[in-house]
Amino acid sequence: MDIQTLLVQGHIKPDEAYNAVTLPIYLTTTYHSPKFGERGKYAYSRGANPTREYLESLVARLEGGSYGFALSSGMTAIAAALAVLKAGDKVLITQNVYGGTVDLLNTFFKDFGLTYELVDTSDVKKLEDHFDKNTRAILIETPSNPLLDITDIGAVSKAAKNHGAITIVDNTFMSPYLQLPLELGADIVVESATKFLSGHSDVIAGTVVTNDAALAGKIRAFQRLVGGISQPFDAYLLVRGIKTLSVRIDRQVENTAGIVEFLRKSPAVEKIYYPGLPEHPGYAVNQRQAKSPGSILSFLLKPGFDIGRFFDSLKLITVGASLGSVETLIQHPATGSHSGFSPEQRKAAGIRDNLIRLSVGIENAGDLIEDLHNALGASKL
Ligand SMILES: *Cc1c(COP(=O)(O)O)cnc(C)c1O
Repeated sequence: MDIQTLLVQGHIKPDEAYNAVTLPIYLTTTYHSPKFGERGKYAYSRGANPTREYLESLVARLEGGSYGFALSSGMTAIAAALAVLKAGDKVLITQNVYGGTVDLLNTFFKDFGLTYELVDTSDVKKLEDHFDKNTRAILIETPSNPLLDITDIGAVSKAAKNHGAITIVDNTFMSPYLQLPLELGADIVVESATKFLSGHSDVIAGTVVTNDAALAGKIRAFQRLVGGISQPFDAYLLVRGIKTLSVRIDRQVENTAGIVEFLRKSPAVEKIYYPGLPEHPGYAVNQRQAKSPGSILSFLLKPGFDIGRFFDSLKLITVGASLGSVETLIQHPATGSHSGFSPEQRKAAGIRDNLIRLSVGIENAGDLIEDLHNALGASKL
């Protein structure tokens, strides 16, 4: 079945009790025992809940995996994936990884004896030099945030396997509609479902999917013992959001192409970072491993244009964190997503003060371009 159908119809009917077309929300913490000493299919909702379970099996099927987990946030999902490791293990991580992932490692996992190294995973040959006898995992994001670097998931997974390490992919920027890391050889795929899967800026959630029974056992234990679960109403909203994933993303990608074309001609723009541009170093790899370049791009303002004036002149595009939603969102990495970095760390990561990240929504492309055009004009010093 094509994923476009699977997104809408799911893989099983959502309600066996009354044949409702939509997914019932089971707002229950506990389940009564049918008879002394016996338990039904469900016992307590931290362990399993029918609404969450439906989402989990749907997401597993969408990602091409056997075991799916719905967690309280993308960060919980990343924590669950990292919790399969142990003290003394080392993780190699894409250098432009989501800031929260590095924070999580520095604040907790490092003290538990997990070490990590930020590396340029887009260069598989160079990556080889970073493996040592303790390397047990590699965590990649492709495209990366905010510079949209592309990593070859298949090649990295193969290299990791050769060194006895697992590959974890944070697939948030693509979603399972555009990219299927498990099919490319990864062992665990993580999504911040807050972004494209939800798509409406109204749910914080995360998912983890794997084909490996042992890894799934650890992740299930993390979910049950820590309790970082997606709640029934959130799970319902996610299933609802997932139904429109393909139409939303198709429109977002189409709008992005129009915006990129506009920005390319703009006298205010120095450079565009978008894997759909043939001059992007990861263009060919992205074409091979993903259905499209997606709807997130970054660009640099030229000297002589004021970034503050640009942001303050936008009338339609929403200035704020997050991405992947129906509304177009824009942010300034140096003072937003990467403000936790020191100026030196930002410089090393290539995040310049004139860099802007755009997550394109489903509005009319002409309206978005007009808003950008006016704001860029107003930003000229
Ligand atoms: C937002 C995001 C996260 C964190 O997800 P939350 O749902 O906010 O906890 C992780 N990875 C990437 C790539 C993200 O964009």
